[in-house]
Amino acid sequence: MEFTVLGLSEKTLAAIEELGYERPTPVQEQAIPIALKGSDVLACAQTGTGKTAAFVLPIVERVAPRGRISSLVVTPTRELAVQIEEVARTVAKHTGHSVLAVYGGVAYTTQLSRLRSGVDLLVATPGRFLDLHNRGEIDLSGVEMLVLDEADRMLDMGFWPDVRKILGLLPKERQNMLFSATLSDEVLRVIGGVVKDAVRVDVSPASVPVDAVEQYLYPVAVEQKTELLVALLHEIDEYRAIVFTRTKQRADRLTAALQSSGVEADTIHSDRSQSQRERTLKDFKRGKHALLVATDVMARGIHVEGVTHVINYDVPDSPDDYVHRIGRTARAGETGVAITLLAYEEFESLRAIERVLGSAIETRDVEGFEYKDRFVPQDDRLTVKRSMFRGGRRGPGRRPGAGGRTRRF
Ligand code: AMP
Repeated sequence: MEFTVLGLSEKTLAAIEELGYERPTPVQEQAIPIALKGSDVLACAQTGTGKTAAFVLPIVERVAPRGRISSLVVTPTRELAVQIEEVARTVAKHTGHSVLAVYGGVAYTTQLSRLRSGVDLLVATPGRFLDLHNRGEIDLSGVEMLVLDEADRMLDMGFWPDVRKILGLLPKERQNMLFSATLSDEVLRVIGGVVKDAVRVDVSPASVPVDAVEQYLYPVAVEQKTELLVALLHEIDEYRAIVFTRTKQRADRLTAALQSSGVEADTIHSDRSQSQRERTLKDFKRGKHALLVATDVMARGIHVEGVTHVINYDVPDSPDDYVHRIGRTARAGETGVAITLLAYEEFESLRAIERVLGSAIETRDVEGFEYKDRFVPQDDRLTVKRSMFRGGRRGPGRRPGAGGRTRRF
């Protein structure tokens, strides 16, 4: 399908050309015509599916620029806010809308002066939005369109009370678009009141990025993870990789260890200042370092083209996080590789992930690596009852021969 059949104006089509998009992604193809008709949209689509353009394009089509806030996008993280602003600014160059993102962690001054000079499309994280509103800086009386981006994430991060407050401030007559990676019962319950008669758009959950990602499991003793990661990176010719750790402390420690092993790495997590994070992300995009160490809170906000590898240094606790992490690669039609380092302690988390994926991830070894005792899961683990893993069968596995394929035990 072509963008031209979606009912967009010439100006918007020119903006799409500037963005470099040739064909609409499934969520764009489905959501844009519905939104252009003025209906509410409830879209189950995760980051990486092209959801940003799926709401930015209808916004500029539906509300003409007039120098006061006519559309509001609420999003959970600063990184997402900045990236939405980037897309919207590119589009707005062609349509004449004025776009501003407001988010915490930076001074108010610039945001305030921009707000005062007139904004059509406001992108905001909930906390900063309410701060600015409480200071009397935001006039919401002209809002005709509301987008709630990553609704499930906002719920997970405890932002829902703030979101509810924001909803209460908006004019009742408006169009709503809601995007969420998951539509669990809880999400549906809290958003029920926002989008009552919405048309539902389902981009089959996870299938878009996950199918395009080759996934491998590298069993290794927990204390050898860094060493194995360095060995693995040596095996890969060229990469632009994001490595995920469970905690900020582990991200810092790993980054330092990688740097001292000669790997060009930097880290991005919520303890770093906004400007540090922005710089790191920019450097990574420019290719200054080929490896970025991140935590899950950051995972959904990172939109970088051409990420070849996602490496789970730690297995994420939830399958949802796994899907989000590996969705950082294989974006927009490319393929990618996801590597998970598995220690014995993480086996239950792996099983939960594999149950969601519906298959066991292929196990691999780094040839010539001196493995210490480690736990190697069986290939038929998904079909074997849980009780089979209890007792004597569980625990550190045998040491496989140097360079050999993974062995079971
Ligand atoms: P999003 O889900 O909005 O974060 O978008 C994911 C990535 O896909 C971004 O890097 C976009 O630049 C890219 N993208 C979005 N729509 C298209 C499209 N129609 N064609 C190609 N790339 C796209």
